[in-house]
Amino acid sequence: MSEIALKVSDLSFAYGAKKALDGVGLAVASGECTILLGPNGAGKSTLFSLITRLYDARQGRIELCGFDIKRQSLQALAKLGVVFQQTTLDPDLSVSQNLRYHAALHGIGRKAADARIREELERLQMYERRGEKVRQLNGGHKRRVEIARALLHKPKLLLLDEPTVGLDMPSRRAIVDHVHQLVKQQNLAVLWATHLIDEIADDDSLIVLHKGRVEAGGKLSDVLRDTACADAGQVFQKLTQDPPGVAT
Ligand code: ADP
Ligand code: MG
Repeated sequence: MSEIALKVSDLSFAYGAKKALDGVGLAVASGECTILLGPNGAGKSTLFSLITRLYDARQGRIELCGFDIKRQSLQALAKLGVVFQQTTLDPDLSVSQNLRYHAALHGIGRKAADARIREELERLQMYERRGEKVRQLNGGHKRRVEIARALLHKPKLLLLDEPTVGLDMPSRRAIVDHVHQLVKQQNLAVLWATHLIDEIADDDSLIVLHKGRVEAGGKLSDVLRDTACADAGQVFQKLTQDPPGVAT
């Protein structure tokens, strides 16, 4: 049995009267890339905001590596690395400065931080660019720096919120491949939110979210069998498209 890095149970959340998540339950295992697939407005970013404690849910429970995020916040959040949908790097600082700042926030000493920064940037072929201001980097390279930053404190779970949106095909591929390698080499658990079905690999797990509800979940092969679909594109179509003529 693989280790469960993230467990979400019966989670609901509303913005005022607008329900964004409705009784969501899911699990993400170490050594697996789990794709959170859903169209715009499905509730993907809301779920990430609850996991990262940007918002608090009144109903439901979230556990990171067995730590309850409300009652054991510090232990839980130490296990978590995040790449948000909008970039959160400081454009006027260098790559290294951005990373050192994050390391300091996590209590990593300067020497250890520099060693970790080197390790992660080298893995992404970005070490030579460490002195450049983030402003000078293209979108794909900024995303790589954000992934390196999210991993500095060696989290068990990495959340990525639509990390390839707006990037060209080679940059998208590089990020998809890099994250899949990390999952395998480091037994990392990844939850990757997207609406792009070509980012799903054959051995990924899939959670289909639509209008705040989980419509399907499991290994891709199991979901294909359960939904009688030939590929992830058909699953997406079948579970997230409203029948024609039905107002939403
Ligand atoms: P996704 O990331 O899957 O596109 P979101 O989590 O951003 O979906 O949004 C889920 C739903 O909640 C959508 O209907 C969206 O309009 C609504 N929503 C998101 N953020 C807010 C907010 N700050 N205030 C009100 N409604 C919001
Ligand atoms: Mg979103």
